[in-house]
Amino acid sequence: MNTFLYIILAIIGTIFGSFFTLAVYRIPRKENIIYVRSHCTSCNHRLEFWDLIPVLSYIFLGGKCRYCKEPIKPIYICLELLSGVVFVLVALAMNITVTSTLIDFITYAYTTLIVSVLCITMGIGKNINVSVILFGMLIRTIYLVFVDNANFEEFFFETSVFLIIALIAYLIISKFVFKNEELEEKYSHAFGTIIFVGFLIYLFGIEITTIVMALGIIFGIISKYFFKTDKKYIMYMSLISIFVLVLISNDVIYSYILK
Ligand SMILES: [Zn+2]
Repeated sequence: MNTFLYIILAIIGTIFGSFFTLAVYRIPRKENIIYVRSHCTSCNHRLEFWDLIPVLSYIFLGGKCRYCKEPIKPIYICLELLSGVVFVLVALAMNITVTSTLIDFITYAYTTLIVSVLCITMGIGKNINVSVILFGMLIRTIYLVFVDNANFEEFFFETSVFLIIALIAYLIISKFVFKNEELEEKYSHAFGTIIFVGFLIYLFGIEITTIVMALGIIFGIISKYFFKTDKKYIMYMSLISIFVLVLISNDVIYSYILK
């Protein structure tokens, strides 16, 4: 029975993952993520239901569009698989079974929503979308206020202090150097990064966030020099955060790290 539950969670995870790939593609282009039918990003051909089955469609189509044969970006299948795997890992970490309490399922649902925000942030990368992060902060606030009340003040305080100091510094610096378009783009990235780091502090507190950021920067530098990729700090920080979230979903690890 529990195996069945875990299979269902894996399937739900890949379906969510499939939505993340769509969000990752459309949000930076300011396209509607809900009402517009899915279409191939290179030939614009409308995709049918059987083209949209997570993971399986990709395998059966050999990683190419059915209509124009353009390869589908590997990040899409990676996001679907990652999401399916993480949905199961969170359930394992939380010891979710068919007999778990309602509050456990609520905490599980909350955790997967935060995973969703981190997956989308990971896929979008450096052009951080502030609305997506604010949605994550809202979910976190609702959870802290209604479920995990004992920790609300501490997380809220640390996050507010960080955001106030960082945003004031940002406003002062940008006032003096906001002159041409190139700088403006850099500063919108800086603004997004501040909100993103604030979100991590809200999730993990300052100590763990510092470790997550340090690891993200190290991975970013390694991938830049060895694989000649663009800077991917936000991507790595999001990915590491997802795994930290899985770890602290386990009560034993949580009390060990956050005591
Ligand atoms: Zn196509």
